[in-house]
Amino acid sequence: MNTISDIKITQSLTSKINEVDFENLTFGSIFTDHMLICDFKNGAWQQPEIKPYEPFLIDPSAKVFHYGQAIFEGMKAYKDAANDVWLFRPDQNFERFNKSATRLAMPEVPEFVFIDGLKTLINLDKAWVKHENGSSLYIRPFMIATGSGVIAQPSTQYRFMIILSPAKSYYSGEVKVIIAEHYSRAANGGIGAAKAAGNYSAQFYPTKLANDEGFQQIIWTDDATHTKLEEAGTMNVFFRINDTLLTAPTSERILDGVTRKSVIDLAKRENIEVEVRSVLVEELVHAAKEGSLKEIFGAGTAAVINPIAGFSYQGTYYELPKLETSFAQDIKTKLTAIQTKDAEDTFGWTVKV
Ligand SMILES: *Cc1c(COP(=O)(O)O)cnc(C)c1O
Repeated sequence: MNTISDIKITQSLTSKINEVDFENLTFGSIFTDHMLICDFKNGAWQQPEIKPYEPFLIDPSAKVFHYGQAIFEGMKAYKDAANDVWLFRPDQNFERFNKSATRLAMPEVPEFVFIDGLKTLINLDKAWVKHENGSSLYIRPFMIATGSGVIAQPSTQYRFMIILSPAKSYYSGEVKVIIAEHYSRAANGGIGAAKAAGNYSAQFYPTKLANDEGFQQIIWTDDATHTKLEEAGTMNVFFRINDTLLTAPTSERILDGVTRKSVIDLAKRENIEVEVRSVLVEELVHAAKEGSLKEIFGAGTAAVINPIAGFSYQGTYYELPKLETSFAQDIKTKLTAIQTKDAEDTFGWTVKV
C-alpha cells in the first residue's frame, strides 16, 4: 500500500467554507472540511482515510489520556498568484515527526501516509488556502496512543491524523519575556527535542505565572544552571548583539526548528554574521546594559518571526531599542516571500502540492 489511489476518500457533501470570515480568523480555531486518519494496529499501519472533519470515539482507558503518548507537528501551506499551493520544507517536519515518535516509543509513520496523505488532503481543501496577503493554511499532523488499558506500557494501537486550519499572519503584539530562573522546559535525557504534547503542558503553569507578572512568554534556560539561553516560549530564540545574530545550537533540550535553520541560512545569504553557540544570560544582561543588544526574536512556524520588546531578569526589566530597520522584520519579509512564492526560492525549500 503506497500510492495515492490507496487512500480511501469520502468527500464531505457540504462545505463550511462560506460560514468562515477569512479576514478575522483566530489562530487554530477553525478547521477545514476534511481530515486524514490512519490507524496502527496488529503491528501495521492500516489504510489511510480522508473523510469529513468530525469528532471520533475513543476508549476512556486509551493510553494517551493516562501516559501522554502524543506528538505533533506544525507546518504551513501557501497559495501563490497562479493558484498553486506550496508546502515549506515538509521533509523536515516528516523526519522530525518520526524522531519524536521514536522518542515516545511510538511507531514511525510511513512517508506515503504523511506526505502523500497531506498533499491529497490539501488538494481536497484547496479552496481554504487563500492567496491574500498573510494568509496560509496551518497544518497539524499528530499521533496519539489509542490502545486501551491503564497498564503503564506503550500502546499497541495508535492513530495518526492531519487536520488543517486557515490562518492569517499572526501578530502577538509587543512581547515581553522573563528569563527562567527556576522552571525548565526540558532537561538532558528528557523529551525536549521531541515535539511532544507533554512539553507544552509542562510549560503552561510557569507561563501563567509569567503572565500574571505582565510577561507574555518565558525565555527558557538550561535546567542544570539556568545560565544559558535556550528557547523563547514555544519558539527558538535569536539575539542580535551589534550586527551579529546569535542562537543556541540544538541539543537534547532544544527543538530543531525548521524556521530556526531557515533563518540561519537566510541570514548567512544576506551576509549577516551568524554564531551558533551557547548564549549566556550574563552576556545578554551585559550587552543590554552597554547598549550592544539590539534585538531578540523568536522563530517558529506559527508566527514565523516574533520580535521581543524587552526581557526581565532577577527583577530588572531591560527594554530593547526601537529600531527603524530590524533583522527580525527583514528576515521575516524575505522568508515569507520565499514561502508564498513572491521571491525566488534559491534554497529549494518549497514543494508544490
Ligand atoms: C515547534 C517548536 C519550535 C519551532 O519549530 P518550527 O519547525 O520552526 O515550527 C521551537 N521550539 C519548540 C519547543 C517547538 O515546539
